[in-house]
Amino acid sequence: MNSIYGFTYEGLKAALSQMGEKPSRADIIFPAVYGDMAEGLESLPLKRETLDRLAENFSFEAPECVAVQQSETADKYLFRLSDGCTVESVLMKHEFGNNVCVSTQVGCNMGCKFCMSGRLKCRRNLTVSELVGQLVQVRRHSGCRIGGISVMGIGEPTENLANVLDFIGIMMYQKGFDIGLKHITLSTCGIVPGIYALMESAYPVNLAISLHAPEDGLREKLMPVTRKYPLAQVMRAARDYSGRLNRRITLEYVMLDGVNDSDECAEKLSALIGGMNAYVNLIRYNEVEGSGFSCSPHERIMSFYDVLKKHGTGVTMRRSLGDSIDAACGQLSAGAEPTREGKPNG
Ligand code: SAH
Repeated sequence: MNSIYGFTYEGLKAALSQMGEKPSRADIIFPAVYGDMAEGLESLPLKRETLDRLAENFSFEAPECVAVQQSETADKYLFRLSDGCTVESVLMKHEFGNNVCVSTQVGCNMGCKFCMSGRLKCRRNLTVSELVGQLVQVRRHSGCRIGGISVMGIGEPTENLANVLDFIGIMMYQKGFDIGLKHITLSTCGIVPGIYALMESAYPVNLAISLHAPEDGLREKLMPVTRKYPLAQVMRAARDYSGRLNRRITLEYVMLDGVNDSDECAEKLSALIGGMNAYVNLIRYNEVEGSGFSCSPHERIMSFYDVLKKHGTGVTMRRSLGDSIDAACGQLSAGAEPTREGKPNG
């Protein structure tokens, strides 16, 4: 039986008509599944026979929430999928609203040297129902309204783009989660064809690119993907994306002590960005045991920031939420069961 969470609105219409039901029933089923007060199908004003047929065809299977670790600013959720694999999502609690960071794959094959997720080989892509299920479960458990989504958890989202796009479509459904295109950000390590595919798709959301170095030599050492897609190609894709959609691109830059944090690197970074409609998001490095990297000291980060400013390059500093519970960027691994505040809860 298929999980209802795997169907887009259009897909559900098609499935209903195959079952001999009116496709327009999707208009009452979708709000019942995804609305703020979602109550499930039993409460729908439909004939018993129809309800039974729906129950025979659709399950409400979602990833099982096996642990939640809470902190003031972020809650980390550990989910077990039907094949036993685990993934994580993080609910980030900002003053201006709640944002959920979702995982798109079990593990990741990109192999970035500083990242925890990269140590786990990607075992598989998440299905649409597993992507949607993370949001459904986080909303159910937290009782929070979700204002935005960061497609920045474990995995490389452009490698699972078809499912990610269906997921985004479902999240945008107005009588459901009702999350606007501009409140969704997808982060890629710089897969050039993926950036163009997103640009041409029905849902060209905000784009963030993990840059982390201003030149290929250094970037290759940190991010092996550079060998396949050198910076010149990545930057051209970013320019095209921003130009076509009239959107500002985020360039993520994690501050690694003594590695990519010199004033010279900042100069080169400004030159690389030139007049492009983009800004740099400086990220404090969250230390990953055994990686050999550490976070640049505060003064170094500020100096780097100043050089960018001096050149007129837009720059912000990401507030790191969820440090204390290993839910910050690059610390998601879904390896071991959390040790603190585990709250098993189906
Ligand atoms: N694969 C995608 C999305 C997942 S990573 C990508 O590479 O963009 C999300 C962001 O966290 C990326 O910018 C990544 O480089 C960064 N990151 C990884 N490990 C980190 C760490 N230990 N501390 C801070 N940021 C990290």
